[in-house]
Amino acid sequence: MQHSGRIWYNIPIMKWTKSLIQTLRENPGDAEIDSHKLLIRAGLARKVAGGLYAYLPLGMRSLRKIQQIVREEMDRAGALEIVSPILQPAELWRTTGRWDTMGPNMFKLRDRGEHEFALGPTAEEVFTDLAKSLISSYRQLPVTIYQIQWKFRDETRPRFGLMRSKEFLMKDAYSFDVDADGADKSYWNMYHAYERIYERCGLKAVPVQADGGDMGDSMTHEFHVLADAGEDGIAFCEGCGYAANLEKAERRVAPRADADCPAYEEVHTPGAKTIDQVAAFMGLPGSAFVKSLIYSADGKPVMVCVEGDRDVNDVKLKRFLGAKKVELADFETVLRASGANAGSVGPVKPADASLRIVCDIALKGAKGRIVGANKDDYHLKNVDLARDCNIADADFADLVIAKEGDICAKCGKPMAIKRGIEVGQVFKLGTKYSAAFNAVYKNDKLEDHVMIMGCYGVGVSRTLQAVIEQSHDKDGIVWPASVAPYQVVVENLDPDKEEVTKIADDLESALEAAGIDVIVDDRAERPGVKFKDADLIGFPVRVVVGAKGLANGGVEIKRRCDDKSKMQIVAPDAALEAIKALLGDPAVRT
Ligand SMILES: [Zn+2]
Repeated sequence: MQHSGRIWYNIPIMKWTKSLIQTLRENPGDAEIDSHKLLIRAGLARKVAGGLYAYLPLGMRSLRKIQQIVREEMDRAGALEIVSPILQPAELWRTTGRWDTMGPNMFKLRDRGEHEFALGPTAEEVFTDLAKSLISSYRQLPVTIYQIQWKFRDETRPRFGLMRSKEFLMKDAYSFDVDADGADKSYWNMYHAYERIYERCGLKAVPVQADGGDMGDSMTHEFHVLADAGEDGIAFCEGCGYAANLEKAERRVAPRADADCPAYEEVHTPGAKTIDQVAAFMGLPGSAFVKSLIYSADGKPVMVCVEGDRDVNDVKLKRFLGAKKVELADFETVLRASGANAGSVGPVKPADASLRIVCDIALKGAKGRIVGANKDDYHLKNVDLARDCNIADADFADLVIAKEGDICAKCGKPMAIKRGIEVGQVFKLGTKYSAAFNAVYKNDKLEDHVMIMGCYGVGVSRTLQAVIEQSHDKDGIVWPASVAPYQVVVENLDPDKEEVTKIADDLESALEAAGIDVIVDDRAERPGVKFKDADLIGFPVRVVVGAKGLANGGVEIKRRCDDKSKMQIVAPDAALEAIKALLGDPAVRT
Protein backbone atom coordinates (compact mmCIF):
# COMPACT_ATOMS: atom_id res chain seq x y z
CA MET A 1 0.00 0.00 0.00
CA GLN A 2 1.13 3.52 -0.86
CA HIS A 3 1.55 6.21 1.79
CA SER A 4 1.18 9.34 -0.35
CA GLY A 5 3.71 11.13 1.85
CA ARG A 6 1.41 11.56 4.83
CA ILE A 7 2.89 8.78 6.89
CA TRP A 8 1.58 10.04 10.22
CA TYR A 9 -1.90 9.96 8.83
CA ASN A 10 -3.68 6.69 8.37
CA ILE A 11 -5.51 6.82 5.06
CA PRO A 12 -8.75 4.89 5.54
CA ILE A 13 -8.65 1.80 3.40
CA MET A 14 -11.79 -0.23 3.14
CA LYS A 15 -12.09 -3.84 2.12
CA TRP A 16 -15.51 -5.40 1.65
CA THR A 17 -14.60 -8.45 3.71
CA LYS A 18 -14.01 -6.16 6.73
CA SER A 19 -16.96 -3.84 6.16
CA LEU A 20 -19.90 -5.69 7.79
CA ILE A 21 -21.85 -5.11 4.58
CA GLN A 22 -24.70 -7.54 4.35
CA THR A 23 -27.06 -7.36 1.41
CA LEU A 24 -30.35 -9.24 1.40
CA ARG A 25 -32.04 -11.02 -1.50
CA GLU A 26 -35.53 -10.75 -0.05
CA ASN A 27 -37.57 -7.62 0.53
CA PRO A 28 -38.46 -7.01 4.18
CA GLY A 29 -42.05 -8.03 4.85
CA ASP A 30 -43.15 -4.67 6.25
CA ALA A 31 -41.74 -2.52 3.42
CA GLU A 32 -44.37 -0.87 1.24
CA ILE A 33 -42.22 1.49 -0.81
CA ASP A 34 -39.08 0.95 -2.91
CA SER A 35 -36.79 3.15 -0.84
CA HIS A 36 -37.67 1.26 2.34
CA LYS A 37 -36.99 -2.09 0.63
CA LEU A 38 -33.68 -0.86 -0.77
CA LEU A 39 -32.60 0.71 2.50
CA ILE A 40 -32.79 -2.70 4.17
CA ARG A 41 -31.72 -4.88 1.23
CA ALA A 42 -28.63 -2.79 0.49
CA GLY A 43 -27.61 -3.07 4.13
CA LEU A 44 -27.86 0.64 4.96
CA ALA A 45 -30.06 0.21 8.01
CA ARG A 46 -31.63 -2.53 10.06
CA LYS A 47 -34.87 -2.49 11.99
CA VAL A 48 -34.40 -2.81 15.75
CA ALA A 49 -38.11 -2.47 16.56
CA GLY A 50 -41.15 -0.90 14.89
CA GLY A 51 -40.15 2.61 13.80
CA LEU A 52 -36.63 2.26 15.23
CA TYR A 53 -33.57 1.65 13.06
CA ALA A 54 -29.87 1.08 13.47
CA TYR A 55 -27.82 2.81 10.77
CA LEU A 56 -25.25 0.30 9.57
CA PRO A 57 -21.80 1.39 8.32
CA LEU A 58 -22.97 2.12 4.74
CA GLY A 59 -26.08 4.02 5.86
CA MET A 60 -24.09 5.92 8.46
CA ARG A 61 -21.64 7.14 5.82
CA SER A 62 -24.46 8.58 3.70
CA LEU A 63 -26.20 10.05 6.74
CA ARG A 64 -22.96 11.75 7.75
CA LYS A 65 -22.48 13.21 4.28
CA ILE A 66 -26.00 14.65 4.29
CA GLN A 67 -25.38 16.08 7.77
CA GLN A 68 -22.18 17.65 6.54
CA ILE A 69 -23.91 19.30 3.56
CA VAL A 70 -26.60 20.65 5.90
CA ARG A 71 -23.96 21.90 8.34
CA GLU A 72 -21.90 23.61 5.64
CA GLU A 73 -24.94 25.38 4.18
CA MET A 74 -26.19 26.47 7.59
CA ASP A 75 -22.73 27.83 8.41
CA ARG A 76 -22.55 29.53 5.02
CA ALA A 77 -25.92 31.18 5.78
CA GLY A 78 -24.42 32.56 8.99
CA ALA A 79 -26.25 30.25 11.40
CA LEU A 80 -24.55 29.14 14.64
CA GLU A 81 -24.45 25.48 15.60
CA ILE A 82 -25.25 24.34 19.13
CA VAL A 83 -26.65 21.14 20.55
CA SER A 84 -29.46 21.01 23.08
CA PRO A 85 -30.57 18.03 25.15
CA ILE A 86 -32.92 15.43 23.74
CA LEU A 87 -34.45 15.19 27.20
CA GLN A 88 -36.45 18.39 27.72
CA PRO A 89 -38.05 19.50 31.01
CA ALA A 90 -41.83 19.74 31.11
CA GLU A 91 -41.71 23.29 32.52
CA LEU A 92 -40.48 24.65 29.19
CA TRP A 93 -43.37 22.98 27.37
CA ARG A 94 -45.84 24.22 29.97
CA THR A 95 -44.72 27.80 29.32
CA THR A 96 -46.28 27.63 25.84
CA GLY A 97 -49.08 25.25 26.81
CA ARG A 98 -47.76 22.62 24.43
CA TRP A 99 -47.19 20.07 27.21
CA ASP A 100 -50.94 19.48 26.96
CA THR A 101 -51.63 20.28 23.30
CA MET A 102 -48.89 18.12 21.74
CA GLY A 103 -51.01 15.08 22.51
CA PRO A 104 -49.93 11.44 22.40
CA ASN A 105 -47.27 12.01 19.71
CA MET A 106 -44.91 13.30 22.39
CA PHE A 107 -42.94 10.79 24.45
CA LYS A 108 -43.21 11.78 28.12
CA LEU A 109 -41.31 10.31 31.03
CA ARG A 110 -40.26 11.00 34.63
CA ASP A 111 -36.88 10.89 36.30
CA ARG A 112 -36.32 9.22 39.67
CA GLY A 113 -37.30 12.45 41.42
CA GLU A 114 -40.68 12.38 39.61
CA HIS A 115 -39.74 15.38 37.45
CA GLU A 116 -41.45 15.26 34.07
CA PHE A 117 -39.60 15.31 30.77
CA ALA A 118 -40.28 14.90 27.08
CA LEU A 119 -38.09 13.32 24.43
CA GLY A 120 -37.92 16.36 22.18
CA PRO A 121 -40.10 16.14 19.06
CA THR A 122 -38.86 19.67 18.21
CA ALA A 123 -37.11 22.40 20.19
CA GLU A 124 -38.87 25.80 19.92
CA GLU A 125 -39.23 25.99 23.70
CA VAL A 126 -35.62 25.06 24.47
CA PHE A 127 -34.19 27.45 21.86
CA THR A 128 -36.45 30.36 22.81
CA ASP A 129 -35.49 29.94 26.45
CA LEU A 130 -31.80 29.80 25.48
CA ALA A 131 -32.12 32.88 23.27
CA LYS A 132 -33.78 34.73 26.13
CA SER A 133 -30.79 33.99 28.35
CA LEU A 134 -28.17 34.75 25.66
CA ILE A 135 -29.63 37.82 23.95
CA SER A 136 -30.21 41.17 25.60
CA SER A 137 -29.45 43.84 22.99
CA TYR A 138 -30.49 44.62 19.42
CA ARG A 139 -26.76 44.64 18.65
CA GLN A 140 -26.76 40.82 18.92
CA LEU A 141 -29.54 40.50 16.32
CA PRO A 142 -30.33 39.06 13.88
CA VAL A 143 -29.14 35.62 14.86
CA THR A 144 -30.01 32.10 13.74
CA ILE A 145 -29.11 29.09 15.89
CA TYR A 146 -29.30 25.47 14.76
CA GLN A 147 -28.63 21.92 15.82
CA ILE A 148 -28.55 18.50 14.21
CA GLN A 149 -30.15 16.29 16.80
CA TRP A 150 -32.27 13.15 17.17
CA LYS A 151 -35.98 13.82 17.58
CA PHE A 152 -38.79 11.59 18.76
CA ARG A 153 -42.41 11.10 17.78
CA ASP A 154 -44.66 8.38 19.10
CA GLU A 155 -46.16 7.52 15.71
CA THR A 156 -49.42 5.57 15.85
CA ARG A 157 -48.30 3.58 12.84
CA PRO A 158 -44.59 3.85 12.07
CA ARG A 159 -43.98 2.87 8.45
CA PHE A 160 -42.07 3.53 5.26
CA GLY A 161 -38.76 2.90 7.02
CA LEU A 162 -37.06 6.18 7.96
CA MET A 163 -39.92 8.23 6.51
CA ARG A 164 -42.24 7.77 9.44
CA SER A 165 -40.15 6.46 12.29
CA LYS A 166 -40.29 7.07 16.03
CA GLU A 167 -36.74 8.41 16.13
CA PHE A 168 -35.27 10.59 13.39
CA LEU A 169 -32.36 12.90 12.80
CA MET A 170 -33.35 16.49 12.19
CA LYS A 171 -31.66 19.79 11.66
CA ASP A 172 -33.71 22.46 13.35
CA ALA A 173 -32.87 26.15 13.22
CA TYR A 174 -34.47 29.14 14.91
CA SER A 175 -34.03 32.77 13.88
CA PHE A 176 -34.41 35.80 16.12
CA ASP A 177 -34.96 39.28 14.70
CA VAL A 178 -35.79 42.79 15.86
CA ASP A 179 -38.72 43.28 13.50
CA ALA A 180 -40.87 41.77 10.76
CA ASP A 181 -38.58 42.98 7.95
CA GLY A 182 -35.62 41.31 9.59
CA ALA A 183 -37.63 38.11 10.14
CA ASP A 184 -38.50 38.18 6.45
CA LYS A 185 -34.83 38.38 5.49
CA SER A 186 -33.95 35.52 7.85
CA TYR A 187 -36.75 33.45 6.34
CA TRP A 188 -35.53 33.88 2.75
CA ASN A 189 -31.94 33.36 3.82
CA MET A 190 -32.90 29.92 5.13
CA TYR A 191 -35.13 29.25 2.12
CA HIS A 192 -32.18 29.74 -0.22
CA ALA A 193 -29.90 27.66 2.03
CA TYR A 194 -32.44 24.84 1.72
CA GLU A 195 -32.41 25.09 -2.06
CA ARG A 196 -28.63 24.64 -1.95
CA ILE A 197 -28.82 21.75 0.54
CA TYR A 198 -31.17 19.70 -1.60
CA GLU A 199 -29.33 20.47 -4.79
CA ARG A 200 -26.06 19.34 -3.25
CA CYS A 201 -27.74 16.13 -2.03
CA GLY A 202 -28.67 15.47 -5.67
CA LEU A 203 -32.35 15.91 -4.87
CA LYS A 204 -35.01 17.69 -6.86
CA ALA A 205 -36.95 19.32 -4.03
CA VAL A 206 -39.79 21.69 -4.79
CA PRO A 207 -40.79 24.54 -2.46
CA VAL A 208 -44.50 24.29 -1.81
CA GLN A 209 -46.72 26.82 -0.04
CA ALA A 210 -48.31 25.39 3.05
CA ASP A 211 -50.78 26.52 5.68
CA GLY A 212 -49.24 28.13 8.73
CA GLY A 213 -52.03 26.88 10.97
CA ASP A 214 -52.04 28.44 14.42
CA MET A 215 -48.40 29.42 14.23
CA GLY A 216 -48.28 33.20 14.13
CA ASP A 217 -47.84 34.53 10.64
CA SER A 218 -49.01 32.02 8.09
CA MET A 219 -45.99 32.27 5.77
CA THR A 220 -44.49 28.84 5.33
CA HIS A 221 -43.00 26.64 2.62
CA GLU A 222 -42.50 22.91 2.65
CA PHE A 223 -39.77 21.38 0.51
CA HIS A 224 -41.03 18.25 -1.21
CA VAL A 225 -39.29 15.57 -3.19
CA LEU A 226 -41.70 14.47 -5.88
CA ALA A 227 -42.28 10.72 -5.75
CA ASP A 228 -45.30 8.54 -6.44
CA ALA A 229 -44.81 6.96 -3.02
CA GLY A 230 -45.10 10.36 -1.30
CA GLU A 231 -47.63 10.71 1.50
CA ASP A 232 -48.56 14.31 0.71
CA GLY A 233 -50.57 15.67 -2.19
CA ILE A 234 -49.33 18.84 -3.87
CA ALA A 235 -51.27 21.04 -6.29
CA PHE A 236 -49.11 22.33 -9.13
CA CYS A 237 -49.95 24.90 -11.74
CA GLU A 238 -48.00 24.58 -14.98
CA GLY A 239 -49.29 28.00 -15.98
CA CYS A 240 -47.73 30.16 -13.26
CA GLY A 241 -45.63 27.75 -11.20
CA TYR A 242 -47.92 27.96 -8.16
CA ALA A 243 -47.32 24.98 -5.89
CA ALA A 244 -49.19 24.40 -2.64
CA ASN A 245 -50.08 21.45 -0.48
CA LEU A 246 -53.66 20.25 -0.69
CA GLU A 247 -54.64 21.89 2.57
CA LYS A 248 -53.46 25.25 1.32
CA ALA A 249 -54.06 25.13 -2.45
CA GLU A 250 -56.48 27.87 -3.48
CA ARG A 251 -58.81 27.33 -6.40
CA ARG A 252 -61.02 29.50 -8.52
CA VAL A 253 -64.58 28.50 -9.40
CA ALA A 254 -66.48 29.67 -12.47
CA PRO A 255 -69.96 31.10 -11.71
CA ARG A 256 -72.57 28.45 -12.37
CA ALA A 257 -75.62 28.76 -14.59
CA ASP A 258 -77.82 25.89 -13.38
CA ALA A 259 -81.28 25.60 -14.92
CA ASP A 260 -84.26 26.35 -12.69
CA CYS A 261 -85.83 23.31 -11.06
CA PRO A 262 -89.35 22.54 -9.80
CA ALA A 263 -90.13 22.54 -6.07
CA TYR A 264 -88.19 19.99 -4.06
CA GLU A 265 -89.70 16.66 -3.06
CA GLU A 266 -88.83 13.81 -0.74
CA VAL A 267 -87.27 10.58 -1.96
CA HIS A 268 -87.21 7.46 0.20
CA THR A 269 -83.66 6.13 0.33
CA PRO A 270 -83.79 3.26 2.83
CA GLY A 271 -80.46 2.09 4.23
CA ALA A 272 -78.40 4.37 1.99
CA LYS A 273 -76.05 6.25 4.31
CA THR A 274 -73.14 7.51 2.26
CA ILE A 275 -73.21 9.67 -0.86
CA ASP A 276 -71.94 6.67 -2.85
CA GLN A 277 -74.77 4.47 -1.58
CA VAL A 278 -77.46 7.08 -2.27
CA ALA A 279 -75.90 7.84 -5.67
CA ALA A 280 -75.94 4.13 -6.55
CA PHE A 281 -79.52 3.85 -5.27
CA MET A 282 -80.70 6.77 -7.43
CA GLY A 283 -78.41 6.02 -10.37
CA LEU A 284 -76.83 9.50 -10.30
CA PRO A 285 -73.21 10.70 -10.08
CA GLY A 286 -71.86 11.94 -6.72
CA SER A 287 -71.63 15.46 -8.12
CA ALA A 288 -75.47 15.68 -8.27
CA PHE A 289 -75.47 15.60 -4.48
CA VAL A 290 -74.67 18.04 -1.75
CA LYS A 291 -72.63 16.45 1.02
CA SER A 292 -73.71 17.95 4.36
CA LEU A 293 -71.76 17.42 7.54
CA ILE A 294 -72.26 18.76 11.03
CA TYR A 295 -69.01 20.04 12.52
CA SER A 296 -68.25 21.29 15.95
CA ALA A 297 -66.26 24.54 15.78
CA ASP A 298 -64.89 25.36 19.24
CA GLY A 299 -67.88 23.41 20.58
CA LYS A 300 -70.50 25.18 18.45
CA PRO A 301 -72.35 23.17 15.75
CA VAL A 302 -72.12 24.34 12.16
CA MET A 303 -73.30 22.61 8.97
CA VAL A 304 -70.76 22.36 6.17
CA CYS A 305 -71.99 21.68 2.62
CA VAL A 306 -69.77 20.69 -0.29
CA GLU A 307 -70.37 19.02 -3.64
CA GLY A 308 -71.01 15.29 -3.28
CA ASP A 309 -67.71 14.24 -4.84
CA ARG A 310 -65.51 16.59 -2.78
CA ASP A 311 -63.98 16.43 0.68
CA VAL A 312 -64.11 19.14 3.33
CA ASN A 313 -60.74 20.74 4.00
CA ASP A 314 -60.57 21.08 7.79
CA VAL A 315 -57.71 23.59 7.58
CA LYS A 316 -59.60 25.94 5.26
CA LEU A 317 -62.76 25.48 7.33
CA LYS A 318 -60.96 26.33 10.53
CA ARG A 319 -59.44 29.44 9.01
CA PHE A 320 -62.76 30.54 7.47
CA LEU A 321 -64.64 30.14 10.76
CA GLY A 322 -61.83 31.71 12.75
CA ALA A 323 -62.05 28.70 15.06
CA LYS A 324 -59.31 27.19 17.22
CA LYS A 325 -60.53 23.66 16.67
CA VAL A 326 -62.94 22.03 14.23
CA GLU A 327 -64.00 18.40 14.27
CA LEU A 328 -66.93 16.31 13.12
CA ALA A 329 -69.71 16.60 15.71
CA ASP A 330 -70.79 13.59 17.78
CA PHE A 331 -74.01 11.86 16.79
CA GLU A 332 -76.10 13.52 19.51
CA THR A 333 -75.10 16.98 18.26
CA VAL A 334 -75.82 15.90 14.68
CA LEU A 335 -79.28 14.69 15.66
CA ARG A 336 -80.06 17.81 17.68
CA ALA A 337 -78.85 20.21 15.01
CA SER A 338 -80.32 18.56 11.92
CA GLY A 339 -83.08 16.26 13.17
CA ALA A 340 -81.54 13.19 11.54
CA ASN A 341 -78.52 10.91 11.76
CA ALA A 342 -75.37 11.64 9.76
CA GLY A 343 -76.44 9.97 6.47
CA SER A 344 -79.56 12.12 6.06
CA VAL A 345 -78.36 15.61 7.02
CA GLY A 346 -79.07 18.48 4.62
CA PRO A 347 -79.27 22.28 4.39
CA VAL A 348 -83.07 22.54 3.92
CA LYS A 349 -84.80 23.37 7.21
CA PRO A 350 -82.55 21.69 9.76
CA ALA A 351 -84.15 21.01 13.17
CA ASP A 352 -82.14 23.85 14.70
CA ALA A 353 -83.42 26.79 12.62
CA SER A 354 -80.59 29.02 13.83
CA LEU A 355 -77.87 26.57 12.73
CA ARG A 356 -75.18 28.31 10.69
CA ILE A 357 -74.68 26.73 7.27
CA VAL A 358 -71.42 27.31 5.41
CA CYS A 359 -71.01 26.17 1.81
CA ASP A 360 -68.20 25.55 -0.60
CA ILE A 361 -68.06 28.29 -3.22
CA ALA A 362 -68.79 25.81 -6.03
CA LEU A 363 -72.33 25.46 -4.64
CA LYS A 364 -73.14 29.15 -5.08
CA GLY A 365 -76.18 29.22 -7.40
CA ALA A 366 -76.54 25.41 -7.38
CA LYS A 367 -80.00 24.21 -8.37
CA GLY A 368 -81.58 20.80 -8.86
CA ARG A 369 -79.39 19.15 -6.23
CA ILE A 370 -80.10 16.18 -4.00
CA VAL A 371 -79.57 16.72 -0.28
CA GLY A 372 -80.28 14.87 2.96
CA ALA A 373 -83.86 15.52 4.17
CA ASN A 374 -82.97 15.89 7.88
CA LYS A 375 -85.18 12.83 8.32
CA ASP A 376 -83.63 9.36 8.53
CA ASP A 377 -83.70 7.38 5.26
CA TYR A 378 -84.95 10.32 3.21
CA HIS A 379 -83.38 12.72 0.75
CA LEU A 380 -84.75 15.74 -1.08
CA LYS A 381 -84.39 16.22 -4.84
CA ASN A 382 -84.71 19.44 -6.87
CA VAL A 383 -83.17 21.61 -4.21
CA ASP A 384 -82.24 25.17 -5.19
CA LEU A 385 -79.80 26.29 -2.51
CA ALA A 386 -80.65 30.00 -2.79
CA ARG A 387 -84.41 29.38 -2.89
CA ASP A 388 -84.75 26.57 -0.35
CA CYS A 389 -81.98 27.11 2.21
CA ASN A 390 -81.06 29.83 4.65
CA ILE A 391 -77.40 30.47 3.80
CA ALA A 392 -75.77 33.89 4.06
CA ASP A 393 -73.90 35.13 0.95
CA ALA A 394 -70.80 35.57 3.09
CA ASP A 395 -70.92 31.91 4.09
CA PHE A 396 -69.84 30.66 0.66
CA ALA A 397 -66.08 30.09 0.59
CA ASP A 398 -63.39 27.74 -0.71
CA LEU A 399 -63.76 24.88 1.79
CA VAL A 400 -62.63 21.73 -0.04
CA ILE A 401 -59.42 19.82 -0.64
CA ALA A 402 -58.02 20.66 -4.09
CA LYS A 403 -58.39 18.05 -6.85
CA GLU A 404 -56.75 17.33 -10.20
CA GLY A 405 -58.08 19.84 -12.74
CA ASP A 406 -59.13 22.51 -10.22
CA ILE A 407 -58.55 26.00 -11.57
CA CYS A 408 -55.50 27.87 -10.26
CA ALA A 409 -56.62 30.92 -8.26
CA LYS A 410 -53.62 32.90 -9.52
CA CYS A 411 -53.74 32.38 -13.28
CA GLY A 412 -56.85 30.40 -14.21
CA LYS A 413 -55.07 27.35 -15.67
CA PRO A 414 -55.95 23.83 -14.48
CA MET A 415 -53.79 22.42 -11.67
CA ALA A 416 -52.26 18.94 -11.51
CA ILE A 417 -51.95 16.95 -8.30
CA LYS A 418 -48.64 15.23 -7.61
CA ARG A 419 -47.29 13.25 -4.68
CA GLY A 420 -44.42 14.47 -2.53
CA ILE A 421 -42.21 13.50 0.40
CA GLU A 422 -41.69 16.44 2.73
CA VAL A 423 -37.97 16.81 3.47
CA GLY A 424 -37.94 20.26 5.02
CA GLN A 425 -39.96 23.26 6.06
CA VAL A 426 -39.31 26.94 6.64
CA PHE A 427 -41.72 28.73 8.91
CA LYS A 428 -42.39 32.25 10.19
CA LEU A 429 -43.31 31.95 13.85
CA GLY A 430 -43.90 35.61 14.69
CA THR A 431 -43.92 36.09 18.46
CA LYS A 432 -45.83 32.98 19.50
CA TYR A 433 -42.87 31.53 21.43
CA SER A 434 -40.90 34.65 22.25
CA ALA A 435 -43.98 36.29 23.80
CA ALA A 436 -44.71 33.17 25.89
CA PHE A 437 -41.14 33.22 27.24
CA ASN A 438 -40.93 37.02 27.32
CA ALA A 439 -37.79 36.71 25.18
CA VAL A 440 -37.01 40.40 24.69
CA TYR A 441 -34.12 42.54 23.51
CA LYS A 442 -33.41 46.18 24.33
CA ASN A 443 -33.50 48.61 21.40
CA ASP A 444 -31.22 51.67 21.08
CA LYS A 445 -33.49 53.60 23.49
CA LEU A 446 -33.18 50.74 25.99
CA GLU A 447 -36.83 49.77 25.53
CA ASP A 448 -37.81 46.09 25.67
CA HIS A 449 -39.21 44.43 22.54
CA VAL A 450 -40.22 40.83 21.92
CA MET A 451 -38.03 39.09 19.34
CA ILE A 452 -39.59 37.92 16.07
CA MET A 453 -38.86 34.28 15.33
CA GLY A 454 -38.71 31.79 12.49
CA CYS A 455 -38.07 28.05 12.57
CA TYR A 456 -36.56 25.84 9.91
CA GLY A 457 -36.35 22.05 9.77
CA VAL A 458 -34.56 19.56 7.55
CA GLY A 459 -35.40 15.89 8.01
CA VAL A 460 -31.86 14.54 7.70
CA SER A 461 -32.62 10.81 8.03
CA ARG A 462 -35.73 11.28 5.90
CA THR A 463 -33.66 13.03 3.24
CA LEU A 464 -31.43 9.94 3.11
CA GLN A 465 -34.40 7.80 2.18
CA ALA A 466 -35.90 10.43 -0.12
CA VAL A 467 -32.68 10.33 -2.17
CA ILE A 468 -33.18 6.57 -2.58
CA GLU A 469 -36.86 7.00 -3.43
CA GLN A 470 -36.04 9.55 -6.11
CA SER A 471 -32.96 7.79 -7.44
CA HIS A 472 -33.24 4.04 -7.97
CA ASP A 473 -33.99 1.50 -10.68
CA LYS A 474 -34.98 -2.15 -10.81
CA ASP A 475 -31.49 -3.28 -9.77
CA GLY A 476 -31.05 -0.99 -6.79
CA ILE A 477 -30.04 2.45 -5.64
CA VAL A 478 -28.41 4.99 -8.00
CA TRP A 479 -26.64 7.30 -5.52
CA PRO A 480 -25.71 10.86 -6.41
CA ALA A 481 -21.94 11.02 -5.86
CA SER A 482 -22.26 13.64 -3.10
CA VAL A 483 -24.10 11.38 -0.65
CA ALA A 484 -23.15 7.86 -1.78
CA PRO A 485 -21.70 5.66 1.01
CA TYR A 486 -18.62 5.25 -1.20
CA GLN A 487 -18.21 7.02 -4.51
CA VAL A 488 -16.31 4.16 -6.10
CA VAL A 489 -16.31 0.38 -5.77
CA VAL A 490 -13.26 -1.47 -7.08
CA GLU A 491 -14.23 -5.02 -7.96
CA ASN A 492 -11.20 -7.23 -7.50
CA LEU A 493 -12.26 -10.31 -9.46
CA ASP A 494 -9.16 -12.32 -8.58
CA PRO A 495 -8.33 -11.56 -4.95
CA ASP A 496 -6.11 -14.65 -4.83
CA LYS A 497 -3.85 -13.30 -7.63
CA GLU A 498 -1.18 -11.02 -6.22
CA GLU A 499 -0.69 -8.89 -9.37
CA VAL A 500 -4.43 -8.20 -9.66
CA THR A 501 -4.77 -7.37 -5.97
CA LYS A 502 -1.81 -4.99 -6.19
CA ILE A 503 -3.46 -3.05 -9.03
CA ALA A 504 -6.79 -2.91 -7.16
CA ASP A 505 -5.13 -1.79 -3.92
CA ASP A 506 -2.90 0.79 -5.64
CA LEU A 507 -5.95 2.26 -7.31
CA GLU A 508 -7.69 2.36 -3.94
CA SER A 509 -4.81 4.31 -2.42
CA ALA A 510 -4.64 6.70 -5.34
CA LEU A 511 -8.37 7.39 -5.11
CA GLU A 512 -8.20 7.94 -1.35
CA ALA A 513 -5.27 10.30 -1.79
CA ALA A 514 -7.35 12.24 -4.34
CA GLY A 515 -10.14 12.62 -1.78
CA ILE A 516 -12.43 10.09 -3.43
CA ASP A 517 -13.84 7.48 -1.07
CA VAL A 518 -13.64 3.93 -2.28
CA ILE A 519 -14.25 0.37 -1.19
CA VAL A 520 -12.52 -2.68 -2.65
CA ASP A 521 -14.70 -5.73 -3.09
CA ASP A 522 -12.13 -8.40 -2.20
CA ARG A 523 -14.61 -11.22 -1.71
CA ALA A 524 -13.94 -14.56 -3.35
CA GLU A 525 -17.36 -14.47 -4.99
CA ARG A 526 -18.49 -14.98 -8.58
CA PRO A 527 -18.41 -11.72 -10.62
CA GLY A 528 -22.20 -11.93 -11.07
CA VAL A 529 -22.77 -11.84 -7.31
CA LYS A 530 -20.36 -8.93 -6.87
CA PHE A 531 -21.87 -6.88 -9.70
CA LYS A 532 -25.37 -7.49 -8.38
CA ASP A 533 -24.39 -6.20 -4.94
CA ALA A 534 -22.63 -3.18 -6.45
CA ASP A 535 -25.79 -2.32 -8.41
CA LEU A 536 -28.01 -2.92 -5.38
CA ILE A 537 -25.96 -0.63 -3.13
CA GLY A 538 -25.55 1.76 -6.03
CA PHE A 539 -21.95 3.05 -5.88
CA PRO A 540 -21.75 5.84 -8.49
CA VAL A 541 -18.67 4.37 -10.22
CA ARG A 542 -17.69 0.72 -10.59
CA VAL A 543 -14.16 -0.32 -11.55
CA VAL A 544 -13.51 -3.94 -12.47
CA VAL A 545 -9.98 -5.27 -12.01
CA GLY A 546 -9.44 -8.88 -13.10
CA ALA A 547 -6.73 -11.04 -14.66
CA LYS A 548 -8.76 -11.49 -17.86
CA GLY A 549 -9.47 -7.78 -18.29
CA LEU A 550 -5.86 -6.82 -17.59
CA ALA A 551 -4.70 -9.29 -20.25
CA ASN A 552 -7.16 -7.63 -22.65
CA GLY A 553 -5.89 -4.10 -22.07
CA GLY A 554 -6.89 -2.80 -18.68
CA VAL A 555 -9.61 -2.17 -16.11
CA GLU A 556 -13.28 -1.60 -16.86
CA ILE A 557 -14.91 1.59 -15.62
CA LYS A 558 -18.61 2.31 -15.67
CA ARG A 559 -21.02 4.67 -13.97
CA ARG A 560 -23.96 3.11 -12.12
CA CYS A 561 -26.38 5.31 -14.06
CA ASP A 562 -24.99 4.28 -17.48
CA ASP A 563 -25.59 1.04 -19.33
CA LYS A 564 -22.90 -1.37 -20.47
CA SER A 565 -22.40 0.39 -23.81
CA LYS A 566 -20.74 3.29 -21.96
CA MET A 567 -18.17 1.02 -20.31
CA GLN A 568 -14.59 2.23 -20.76
CA ILE A 569 -11.50 0.08 -20.72
CA VAL A 570 -8.43 2.00 -19.60
CA ALA A 571 -4.90 1.15 -18.57
CA PRO A 572 -4.60 0.87 -14.75
CA ASP A 573 -2.50 4.03 -14.51
CA ALA A 574 -5.12 6.03 -16.44
CA ALA A 575 -7.96 4.85 -14.17
CA LEU A 576 -7.74 7.66 -11.62
CA GLU A 577 -8.20 10.42 -14.19
CA ALA A 578 -11.03 8.54 -15.92
CA ILE A 579 -12.85 8.10 -12.58
CA LYS A 580 -12.39 11.75 -11.68
CA ALA A 581 -13.91 12.73 -15.02
CA LEU A 582 -16.90 10.45 -14.42
CA LEU A 583 -17.54 11.79 -10.93
CA GLY A 584 -17.59 15.30 -12.31
CA ASP A 585 -17.21 18.56 -10.46
CA PRO A 586 -15.74 17.93 -7.00
CA ALA A 587 -17.72 20.91 -5.71
CA VAL A 588 -20.93 18.93 -5.98
CA ARG A 589 -19.38 15.85 -4.38
CA THR A 590 -18.97 17.53 -0.97
ZN1 LIG B 1 -51.46 29.26 -12.04
